[in-house]
Amino acid sequence: MLKRVLVANRGEIAVRIIRACREMEIETVAVYSTADRDSLHVQLATQAVCVGGPRAQESYLDQRNILSAALATGCDAVHPGFGFLSENPEFARRVEEAGLVFIGPAPEVIEKMGQKSAARQLMMENGVPVVPGSEGTVDSPREAAGIAAGLGYPVLVKASAGGGGRGMRRVDSPGEMENAFSTARAEAEACFGDGSMYLEKLILSPKHIEFQVLADTQGHVIHLGERDCSIQRRNQKLMEESPSKALTPALRAEMGAAAVRAARAAGYRSAGTVEFVLDKEGHYYFIEMNTRIQVEHPVTEMVTGLDLVKEQLRVAAGLPLSVTQEEVAITGHAIECRINAEDPAKGFLPSPGTVEFLHLPGGCGVRVDTMLYPGYATSPYYDSMVAKVIVHGASRLEAVRRMRRALEELMIRGFATNQELEYLILYHPEYLKGQYDTGFLERNLQELLRERGEAGGHVF
Ligand code: ADP
Repeated sequence: MLKRVLVANRGEIAVRIIRACREMEIETVAVYSTADRDSLHVQLATQAVCVGGPRAQESYLDQRNILSAALATGCDAVHPGFGFLSENPEFARRVEEAGLVFIGPAPEVIEKMGQKSAARQLMMENGVPVVPGSEGTVDSPREAAGIAAGLGYPVLVKASAGGGGRGMRRVDSPGEMENAFSTARAEAEACFGDGSMYLEKLILSPKHIEFQVLADTQGHVIHLGERDCSIQRRNQKLMEESPSKALTPALRAEMGAAAVRAARAAGYRSAGTVEFVLDKEGHYYFIEMNTRIQVEHPVTEMVTGLDLVKEQLRVAAGLPLSVTQEEVAITGHAIECRINAEDPAKGFLPSPGTVEFLHLPGGCGVRVDTMLYPGYATSPYYDSMVAKVIVHGASRLEAVRRMRRALEELMIRGFATNQELEYLILYHPEYLKGQYDTGFLERNLQELLRERGEAGGHVF
């Protein structure tokens, strides 16, 4: 087994990884920026090393400093968490070259899946349905318009290196192509330093359905069912659940088999996610593969009883997965709400501050992953997500009711959050039916905000 793991991340995911290591009696080394001196992950790790200044570029993205910290503290592996360096093939390669284990897939696999147009190609070759679109990348608005004419509008212009919904534009008619293509490409160049673009048909009102996969170095590849991540704002996930109301057992088996095929084709190891959009007729299309642990992984843990980070650690140590596909049983229903320090009433403006009072929900079937504690000051330098509330119930209805009462109990004083908005979503008829699609929040946001406003801050 591994002896000492450097956790190259911060916030709740760093805490999450440290907890798994601790239960496996693996020592941990936290890294932190000068802005995170008092962070929970620093306090929970066996030891901690400051790797630079507050801006991510100066610390959590500084490969050299992080590697030096790993070597100086005698680590044998590095867990990258999500975001930051987690999908950076160069970092994974440098970790391996330094003689350490990178907890994730091989650098070549990260690289291949990170180029979404190349990933699409690989899926097509392996019989995984992809969204109709361009073959490979598209170089100009003119070429894009030519392909779009064949596909039929609306289409999506997407950045091959894209992530977090950036570098993506919807195009409804030929007249919009020039502008959409150029702005999406400029955004991709600015965000990812890579302006390669490709084209996909826009699937109207789809659901975002993703499959969790696990693979070890002995050739076992399994899936752990799906997550429905269709409650999104600007292509960013807000609430997730497992299983999805939209899948029949037959469709689940088919999509799961496609996800396993995708992971096998990629030569995958560790935990990963195969993302699809699912249309109203039950057709599913691959959109991308994420080569890391994801924010929403706890809903899968709740319904399978597995610890995905521990599985990652086992695989990194060369051990086989702890379960076979036949042994995976999905029990009950789980929902996750991401709690972000942002104000929905002010256009979701980030709202940093100091935690003046904190009460976390508990009781049967409730889990909270967070780095918050009373007196903790959030930092404007990092992502606004401060907590994840996850519930498990015997049925979907029980999970929904449990999440409502968990959000009623949750009290974070000191800054605005999206907690009330999520609470109202849990009462929306469309949500209750489970038939919502990725356009749900945009369609209903004004109504939900009005409800919130009318309640005068007393929605609970
Ligand atoms: P990113 O890596 O930036 O998150 P994705 O390719 O995963 O980009 O897409 C993000 C979201 O955009 C998806 O969850 C889905 O809601 C929407 N989306 C992506 N591709 C399509 C498509 N072809 N048709 C409809 N919606 C899409």
